[in-house]
Parts: sequence; structure tokens; C-alpha cells
Amino acid sequence: MKQLQELGVAGLARALAARQVSSVEVTQASLAAIARAADLGAFLATNPEAALASARRADAAIAAGQAGPLTGVPIAHKDIFVTDHARSGLASTAGSKMLAGYASPFDADVVARLEAAGTVTLGKLNCDEFAMGSTNENSAYGPVRNPWNRERVPGGSSGGSAAAVAARLVPAATGTDTGGSIRQPASFTGVTGIKPTYGLCSRYGMIAFASSLDQAGPLARSAEDCALLLDAMVGFDARDATSVDPAPYRARRAEVAARAAAAASANAARPLQGLRIGLPREFFPAGLAADVAAATRAALAELEKLGATLVDVSLPRTQLSIPVYYIIAPAEASSNLGRYDGVRYGHRAAQYGDLHDMYRKTRAEGFGAEVKRRIMIGTYVLSHGYYDAYYLQAQKLRRMIADDFQACFRDCDVIAGPVAPSVAWKIGEQADDPLANYLADIFTLPASLAGLPGMSVPAGFGAEGMPVGLQLIGNYFDEATLLHAAQALQQATDFHLRTPPGF
Ligand code: GLN
Repeated sequence: MKQLQELGVAGLARALAARQVSSVEVTQASLAAIARAADLGAFLATNPEAALASARRADAAIAAGQAGPLTGVPIAHKDIFVTDHARSGLASTAGSKMLAGYASPFDADVVARLEAAGTVTLGKLNCDEFAMGSTNENSAYGPVRNPWNRERVPGGSSGGSAAAVAARLVPAATGTDTGGSIRQPASFTGVTGIKPTYGLCSRYGMIAFASSLDQAGPLARSAEDCALLLDAMVGFDARDATSVDPAPYRARRAEVAARAAAAASANAARPLQGLRIGLPREFFPAGLAADVAAATRAALAELEKLGATLVDVSLPRTQLSIPVYYIIAPAEASSNLGRYDGVRYGHRAAQYGDLHDMYRKTRAEGFGAEVKRRIMIGTYVLSHGYYDAYYLQAQKLRRMIADDFQACFRDCDVIAGPVAPSVAWKIGEQADDPLANYLADIFTLPASLAGLPGMSVPAGFGAEGMPVGLQLIGNYFDEATLLHAAQALQQATDFHLRTPPGF
């Protein structure tokens, strides 16, 4: 059974297509692994009957010769994606008490696309409440534990997704990234994750946090597996006003694949020949933990051996991305979360006086501390008199941060650096210090503010054997180059294949 869990998406798809194993068997094995690892807190819900029914349909499709590259592969969704309750039997909670037991009448676009691709949904994954956080300690349903060390956080907000993939409970999972929530937990748990260009995946049915930043993406063991998932997740959706045509993404994927094939026959040892990797000097500050710096530098040296050249670049406003993000994201959150009024969705206080009292009690009971903190910051920065001083200034700086990236991309094809300033810290260590958590987002926020694709690739291990990820950032629609570089690195290293002890 262990071997089955080791296969990953591409390997599993091959085994399924060759009829070496059935989707029902794989689904049963995954469900058993999930049950054994319940103490991780990664899953909020599973529905074995629905999953097995879906696996039987996948097996029938495979037998009929109608299988695609993901048919019969079990996955799970971050519980920020709504899942049609009538179809799946799964609630959609966003990690919040506000939406406890919420039965969505429809599927998120990303969920629907992965269902159509034949994946088998095992359940919903724990996350920080409304995706606000970087440790998964903000979930109303308890923390998630890092499979590499259960005393440590798995990162967040897609902590359940990252832990489930790292512990081999699922070969892949969906996540969302507003300011780093795919990349940082991927880094903290030693898995691969990619946040695509803003707009490539539809936000329809993705419970909103900060709409101008929210983006879906996959977490899996390898870049190859992430690519398989991402290809199925992207697509134009008229129901999301910021959805974009994926044609440039697809064109780049085809172009890079063709060039990689040609390069492989010419000089197989140097698959990254000609790739210019920019290292922003602001991403290697004095305060960077020594173990993270060492693993990052070692991975970069490996990329050089594969043919890439390293160039110095600068993202001068890197530090400003923290105040800019922590103004814009709460501003949008305060507006998005206005909908939880006890009338249309989820929780309503049991006892109240007039309408305003009902709103007040419902929201006081339904939201956790971090969500309330952000609603207060957001309404403050949007209020008359402060709007120009904070929100408008932040928007101007956001544009400048995006322009800084374009200046870099004149000198390089990909930008690389650490994902986070340290390895995963202990559960509770920073729980009373929101500012410390915000500051640790420094390397993921710039790409989020610019809407650029970003990725975390396992790069080694740091203090106490905790995983370290390398961040790769690409230009708009150039996910292909990130995936290609990551895949080349993964063919030369085995960090992504290491399994946490006991799994
Ligand atoms: N850690 C960041 C925050 O707390 C990012 C979260 C995210 O990307 N969803 O907002």
C-alpha cells in the first residue's frame, strides 16, 4: 500500500491507465491513510461513499478507453473552494465557525473542472479562517500539524493541503494563494506548489478573501504533477470578472515543451542552458536564517550546473510589500466579509434584540480574532480621511512594485529566492504576535501584489530536518518556464521524494 502512496499524480495515472491498479483501490488506500493520520488535522471532512462512487465511474471510463491524464486520481480541496453539497455531501466552511456546516448549492469553477477531468474528490482540507494566516493556527477547527515534526506549523493558509500531500495522504491538492498561501506551506512541508498568474484560475466559488490577489493553484509532490493539475484548473470563466483567456499560458507551455525536447537531444546534461535566473539582492538580507540561505544557495548552484546563469537584480520595494499588502488585503477583506450578516449565509446568533444586535452578535460569534483584526484594519484604511493616506498610497506602491518586476525581467527570465525567512516554527510560538507572522510574508507578497506566477520547489532541509523551499517567480503567463526549471531541478535532486518519518 505504501508504494501506491508514493506514486504521485503522473505515476498513478500511468498505473491506472495500464490497469495495474484501480481507482477504487487507490481511493480506498488514500481513505485509510487519511484515517490513520487524523491527528495531523489536515482534513476537515471526507465522504468515502461519494469518493468510491466517483472512483467506480473513473474505473469505468478507463475500461472504456475514455480516460484523461487525471482520470481516477484522488485529490482533495482546500475548504475555501465551495463544493456542491447535493453532489459531494461535503460542507464548505472556509475554516470559519461562520460557515460551519454550510451546504453550497454549487461547485467552484476549479472544483468543477477537476471533477470533469475525472479526479476523485476525497474531502475538504483545513485552512486558516478565510485564508487569513501563515500557520493554520487561525482555523476554527483546530491547527494542522507539520508531518515533518508535529510540534511545528505546516504553514498557511493552505496548511491542510500541504500537510496532506507531504504525508502522502493524497497525491495532490488544491490551494489558494493571496499573499503566499500556496508557496509558503509548500516550502514548510517539502512539497511543490504553484500560484499561477492572477486571473488564470477562476475565482468563482472560491470563498473571497482579497479579490484582487486571490488565486487558486495546485500543491503536489513534483513540478510534473503540479503541471498536470494546473492544466486542468485554468480556463476562462465569464462568472469571474477578472478571469483571463488562458491561451498565452497554453502557448508558452507548448513552446517551452518543444524547446525542452530539442534541448534534451542536443545537450541532455544542461537542460537549462540559456536560462537567466535573477537574484534580487533584497531577497538575501542579513536577517535571512542561515539554514534557509544555505539550502537556497545550494539549489541555485544546482540550477547553474544544469545550464542556468545567475544574474543580480533588484526589487527595491520588497520591504514595502508588507505594509502595502496589509493595507490592501484587509481593505478588500472588510468589504468581502460584509456578506456574513446572519441572514444569507451560515451562522446566526441564537439570541438577539433588533436587527443591528443580530448582526453584531452573529459576527462577534462567527469570526475569529484574526478575521476581526483584519476587518477593523480594513474599515479603518478605507474610511473617509484615511483612504488617501493609506489605501490610495498602497495602490500606487502596488503599481510600482509590479513595475520593478518588469525592470528585472529585462535582465532575466525567472526570479529566484527564498520562500520564507526561516523554516517552519513551533505551533504557538508566534500565535500572539500577528506582526511577526506578517513580517515573515516578505518574500511571497511582492509576486502576489504584481499578480505574477510564483512557485515553491523543495530545495533541501534546514534546522532540525525541516524542509526549505526555493521560490521561483516568472513573468505573466510564463508558468511553463517555472515548471520546466523546477522539473529539471527535480530530475537532478531527490528532495521532493523524501518522505516525512513515519509516513
Ligand atoms: N499570510 C498571508 C496572510 O495572512 C497570506 C495568506 C494567503 O495567501 N491567503 O494574509
